[in-house]
Order: sequence, then C-alpha cells, then structure tokens
Amino acid sequence: MTNKSFKVITLGCKVNQYESAYLKEALAGAGWLQAGKYETSDVVIINTCIVTQKAAHQSRQAIRKAIRENPGGFIAAVGCYAQALPEEISQIEGVGLIADNRMKADIPHFLINGGASSKTTVLLKQYEADAPFDFLDIRSFPDRTRSYLKIQDGCQSFCSYCIVPFTRGPYRSLAPEKILHMLEVLSGQGYKEVVFTGIHLGKYGVDLKGDTDLVPLLQMVGREGYPLRIRLSSIEPNEIEMGLIEMAASERWLCRHFHIPLQSGDNRVLKMMKRNYTTREFAAIIEAIYSKIPHVCIGVDIMSGFPGEDSRAHRNSCSLIKDLPLSYLHVFPFSPRSGTAANSFKGRVDPGVIKKRAAELRDLGERKRSLFYRGCLQKEFQVLGEGWHSETPGVMKGRSDNYLPVLFPSDHIRESQLVQVLMERVEGNMVMGNELPGIKSHEVP
Ligand code: SF4
Repeated sequence: MTNKSFKVITLGCKVNQYESAYLKEALAGAGWLQAGKYETSDVVIINTCIVTQKAAHQSRQAIRKAIRENPGGFIAAVGCYAQALPEEISQIEGVGLIADNRMKADIPHFLINGGASSKTTVLLKQYEADAPFDFLDIRSFPDRTRSYLKIQDGCQSFCSYCIVPFTRGPYRSLAPEKILHMLEVLSGQGYKEVVFTGIHLGKYGVDLKGDTDLVPLLQMVGREGYPLRIRLSSIEPNEIEMGLIEMAASERWLCRHFHIPLQSGDNRVLKMMKRNYTTREFAAIIEAIYSKIPHVCIGVDIMSGFPGEDSRAHRNSCSLIKDLPLSYLHVFPFSPRSGTAANSFKGRVDPGVIKKRAAELRDLGERKRSLFYRGCLQKEFQVLGEGWHSETPGVMKGRSDNYLPVLFPSDHIRESQLVQVLMERVEGNMVMGNELPGIKSHEVP
C-alpha cells in the first residue's frame, strides 16, 4: 500500500498539533503523499478534541465533512473524542477507524500495513496507573518557523468542569535526555523557537526519578546553549516556582511569556471548580512575575458562567483582572461536559448571561492587550520572522519573545530568523517596528 494520499485535520490544543505532526511525518516517511487542502485523498485522519461542547461539535462536523468530500476515501477519527466517547463516533456512518490517544503511535503502522479496509476498526487502550509516556518522534514540524515539542502528558487534577483527565490519563513525562536529543534535532533543522507543550506542564517530572522537575530540566537545556529559544505553553499558577520566574528574567533563550489559567476571580467559584489557589495567591504570582521580568507577557484563561457564578462573582473576576498587569485574556464560556462533576452542579447560568459576561471579559481583554502593546513601544525586542505579511513582499511578520505580533519592513525574507526590532506604533492588532542591526540568526539568543 504505497503512494496513497492522506490528509490530517487537527482540532484542539498544541499537544494534538504535535501528535498530528507525528502522524503526517510517519505517513510521508512511508512514501504517502500529503493532499492539498482542497484535494480529495485516500485517507483522512481527523485528530479530534472534546474539551468543550463546541470542540466536540466541530470534531463531528469535521468527520462528516471528510466523509462527504472524500467519496471512497478511508476516514479515521482519532484522539480525545475517540478516547472519551468512541460509541458516539461509531454512530457516524463511514468512519473506518476509531483510535484513541493511547493508540496514536500505532496509527501510521496500521494504515501503512493495509489496515484501511471497508469495515470499521476500533483501536482503544485504557490508561493504566503506570502508563508510559508515548514518545512520538518527529524530525520537523509543519509550521516552518517554530516547533512544538510534547514533553508532558496527562492530568490527574480533576478540576470539576474538565473532561481532560478522562482523555489523557495519568501524569507522564518525556525523559530529559530525549528532550535534549529532540532540541538537537530541531535546532539542526533550523528551528529558532521550540514550544514546550503538555497537558499539565507544571507536573513535568513528577513521574520521573531524581530531580527532574521543570526548572532543573530548563537548567539542563540552558547549559546546552542551543541556538534557539524556548517558550512554555500554559502553566498552572500554583506551579510557577520562583526559580522559573528568575530564569525567565535572566535567560534570553527563555521567552518572557507566561500563559496561566485563572478561570475565576472569585474564591467561592474557584473552590467549586476545584482549583487549588485563592485569588490572593494568584495575584501574588502575577505580581512576582511582573516585578521581576521587564515587559513580560502574561496571558490568562478565564471562564464565564460556571454554575453558581452570580453577578457578584463575575464582578470579582472583572475587578481582579482590571487590577492585575495582564497582557491578554482567553475567554471560555462554561461548557457542561458529561462525566465531570460540574455537569450536575446546580445554579446553571442563563446562556444569554454567559454570553454577555464573556463579551464583557473579552472587551476587558482587548483593553489589556492594547495597554500591553503600548507599554512596549520605543523598546527593542527579539523577533522571530514568520514570513511575508501579505502576498506583496516588503513587510515581514513575526513574534517577539514576549509574544508581540510584529510587522516590520524588510527587503529580503527573514523567515525563521531572529532579528532585533524597535517597536514604534500600534496599528489594529499589530505592533509596527523597524529592524535594528544586531543579532544574527545563527547566534545563540
Ligand atoms: S489542571 Fe484542571 S483544567 Fe487543567 S487539564 Fe487538569 S483538570 Fe483540566
């Protein structure tokens, strides 16, 4: 079964995107051809997400669309939806393979060896308490400028609204030597930024022997002096150690960017959510980060309309956010998930009210973002070039280490290169700057 064409459609988080990169690379490595966006293909893999009702709905839609648009094609529905609700997927006529997260490593082998037959195959494997970290080896990442690297998997926190612990199993970590090896490979491929991703990143190392938590891991990475920078994906507030803050303040290769889930600015709601911190503790962490790291970007996840969230609790969220030096917000309306504790909580908030509160939070987030961008003007930042901003060359787009979306004029393409940019003005959602002579792309940042 060679030279088949395939397509991978990804929904959800960065971990899913990393795992999709593995699927693509493994199939392409076997001689399969990746079909273009508008082409039909022999095999379509939909890497699903189930974190909210909307994500689940979009996953089902993507599966149905793939069936419709690829008559005679083989459709594989894999990932979190398949893990949590395989029977729901099996109701969709035309799905040839249902495979959960634990079976992702085996999917290319299954397909390459003729697994794509007319009857539906179901590949499911429960998580054992000592399930290993499934290392999915990749050489490159579809995004040509930055690569993700999954270093952690699983969550055992069971926040009352969250389905993820049921789909991702116990805490598991990639061994430090494998991480160093991957950084060697990715820097050799020319990547200038690697994003460490995980389901519960702050728990990195808890399942490994010795002193292998996130901070010692980063110290190890720093000693190697790779010519790339590291960005951390989302990390829980109560898992941000002072050592991590100090490292982000002093090490140029570690991006000054924290993405931290707050979820509510009301202690009563936080308790119902089973989040293990108070608003005061959250504020103390944010203040510590802000006071130690100049121009740090601090993004926050916030949920609107959790059951029992009254208008006072919502106001508490708004005023906590207003008071803190935050850079942007990701706002999520509460989404009941069956199997989670909050699904049966009383005090459901009216959907119209949830929408209104979410809109208010988003508006607040926009004001925070604009203030943050303006506070970075007339300062220099290290920007990773991503490509031309439009089809007409002349203006490059890129991201600074502190996550500013930057545009700067350039007479030659600076994709995957690190450049120094002086930020000059804010235009819409972008920061306009000018390149300064300085750091060369091959230098250690
Ligand atoms: S920490 Fe809570 S919100 Fe995050 S994945 Fe685990 S259970 Fe879900």
